[in-house]
Amino acid sequence: MKDIAKVNSYPIVVIGAGAGGLVIAIGATKAGKKVLLIEKGPYGGDCTNFGCIPSKSLIASAHSAFAMKEGKELGIDSLPLIVHADETLFRVRSIVAEIRSHEDPDALNKLGLETLTGSAKFEGPHTLLVNNEVIHAKQIVIATGSSAFIPQITGLDKTPFLTNETIFELKKIPKSLTVIGGGPIGCELAQAFLRLGSKISLIHSHTELLNKEEPSAQNVIANQFKLEGMSLYLGMAVKEVSYNQDRFQIFLENGQKFESDALLVSVGRKPNVSSLNLEEAGVNYSDKGIPVDAYGRTNISHIWAVGDVIGSPFFTHWAEYQARSVLTSLLLPFPFKKKIDKNQSIPRVTFTDPEVASIGLTEKEASQCYNIATYTVPFSQVDRAITTGRTEGFVKIVTKKWSSKILGCTIVGERAGEMLGEITLAMYTGIPLRKLSGLIHPYPTYNLAIRKAADMWLTQTILSIFKRKKLNKDIKKYLPIIIIFIAMALIYFSGIYQYFSLETLRIYHKSLKTFVEIHPIALPILFCLTYITSTALSIPGAIFLTLLGGYLFPPPFSTSYVVLSATCGATFIFLAARTALKDILKKKAGPFLQKMEAGFQENAASYLLFLRFVPLFPFWLVNIAPAFFGVSLFTFVWTTLVGIFPGTLVFTLAGGGLEKILENNEPFSLNTIFNTQIKMSLILLGITALVPIVWKKFKKNRPDF
Ligand SMILES: Cc1cc2nc3c(=O)[nH]c(=O)nc-3n(C[C@H](O)[C@H](O)[C@H](O)COP(=O)(O)OP(=O)(O)OC[C@H]3O[C@@H](n4cnc5c(N)ncnc54)[C@H](O)[C@@H]3O)c2cc1C
Repeated sequence: MKDIAKVNSYPIVVIGAGAGGLVIAIGATKAGKKVLLIEKGPYGGDCTNFGCIPSKSLIASAHSAFAMKEGKELGIDSLPLIVHADETLFRVRSIVAEIRSHEDPDALNKLGLETLTGSAKFEGPHTLLVNNEVIHAKQIVIATGSSAFIPQITGLDKTPFLTNETIFELKKIPKSLTVIGGGPIGCELAQAFLRLGSKISLIHSHTELLNKEEPSAQNVIANQFKLEGMSLYLGMAVKEVSYNQDRFQIFLENGQKFESDALLVSVGRKPNVSSLNLEEAGVNYSDKGIPVDAYGRTNISHIWAVGDVIGSPFFTHWAEYQARSVLTSLLLPFPFKKKIDKNQSIPRVTFTDPEVASIGLTEKEASQCYNIATYTVPFSQVDRAITTGRTEGFVKIVTKKWSSKILGCTIVGERAGEMLGEITLAMYTGIPLRKLSGLIHPYPTYNLAIRKAADMWLTQTILSIFKRKKLNKDIKKYLPIIIIFIAMALIYFSGIYQYFSLETLRIYHKSLKTFVEIHPIALPILFCLTYITSTALSIPGAIFLTLLGGYLFPPPFSTSYVVLSATCGATFIFLAARTALKDILKKKAGPFLQKMEAGFQENAASYLLFLRFVPLFPFWLVNIAPAFFGVSLFTFVWTTLVGIFPGTLVFTLAGGGLEKILENNEPFSLNTIFNTQIKMSLILLGITALVPIVWKKFKKNRPDF
């Protein structure tokens, strides 16, 4: 008698024989593991049976029909055009059958892989139930994919509508077809059926088709569809659907109504989680899929999930990529487990004609995070496209402005999907766009468009700064930074920095004092100008300058010089932040501004006073932030004058203490520098810091009359 427990126990069980599941099951078997693959439907999953393969096969027939129809332009007249619609659908099914034959149980068993056909559900963390059979597994991989999302539309459930799972079973190309959904699946199938003879109405709730793509790509596709005779209903929602005498009636929310012979629903995907009984295993999940960690593990460490079931994006290549990482982790011990690189950009292709291929960020997305440049080459400037007569479309590459690091790319054109490989590789290996200019591209290929875009980096970015107008603008923009760098370089190379030590000060004390005495007006002016400049340019070192002021000048003068100069410098940068340097400074202060927003909105004056008393944020930031919250010049000036006074007093007094030590030739000691006067000022500083808080509290508690 067989030992049942042994027969039904596996080190690895994979649920779902689709793109992700097959990679893991076959890979682990080849590595010598005993693996069970469970599949409830046709082996091969969505991609082989209801997705990529049937859709691309149908698109091939449609493409051919279109090319013949349009052949006249190339000197070929193939009319009258006869489309054997039934045969195109038969061809689709035979291609699916051929590819599935490499993935069915017979083929898989030959590789040494055990298969079980049936729907799997969890009975416990290590236990699955399939066709009343209990399976024990040490490691379990969930790769159950996704299905068509069916929206709540009145009457829809009472009609024989089509989804990607049923449309390829049609025996005839319908005379008319309504497609709900203008995403990749909807667009691909709508155009394919249109070219095979269907009258197509496409309804999309967004105002643009393919809403994740660049607007320029969306336009090309919408124009092409219209040109071919498709009726587009964009930015519209379906209110109701009914089915009478083999005809669908579609009612839009705006009151429009039309009929068609068939209806395809393709409005999105939903991960297949509901039939798995995941609660029994304690696996977390939601409608959006099963969350996984960087290795592809669910919250239960021996249960993994890959592919569509973990949620968007839904691509075969993404499912396979995740599966390869999880396979490595299943086969190797801990230090060699492989992370799924979620930072790697995932290329995507919509197989319309022209194709839309893209990767990374769109121009709009990139511009929100980086200083960017874009390079667009229309196919009307690419010789290969001109020779084939397919000049619609373009290559658009988005990069960081100066480094030309590629952030994203969109290609719309006949071979867009194939062309994208070059950019995908460049992004993966970190090759900046400018370097692709030196790569030898064979002539005449479509990819020369990418070299042309790379050539533009030099003309558009580098050479353009030599144009006078632009140069002036850029110099203005970067002037403060340039000055800071020059000042720092001067200080360093002139050796001045060596003089900034207490011992040097002791050596030069007598001569410095004489110098102060013989320049009673020029020296304070020089001191104040230095202070104003350093504050205006936000150069660090204000504390040092304040101490110097206290050291050089008697207390009332030093404090007044510093308070007035600091206020002047701060006001200068405040005004700059309101006007010329607004964008640069806003970018610099961006993250901090959010933190300050609430404070400024509640009571700008008291908050600003508080920030002056209590240095929660750097001085330069407190100087520019009020400019972005609409604080008036008057409020800014008085709060600055008052707010910086106590702090200034402490440091000028400390500078005075230093002067006394040097005068009396005493050894340096903190006790003598921080004399009673300073201690009193520190107490004053502490008390004044509380003023805005008490003021706020008092205002809050005051009843409204
Ligand atoms: C019309 C269409 C066109 C597409 N075109 C493309 C394309 O051109 N390029 C691209 O990259 N992607 C495309 N996709 C997406 C692609 O098909 C999926 O991203 C891919 O198949 C996901 O692989 P997967 O392994 O996660 O799931 P699947 O390949 O769907 O495999 C999941 C398997 O799990 C099985 N299963 C589910 N629940 C259970 C259970 N409880 N027990 C046992 N078995 C179960 C299912 O029957 C299925 O066979 C397309 C999708 C559609 C619908």
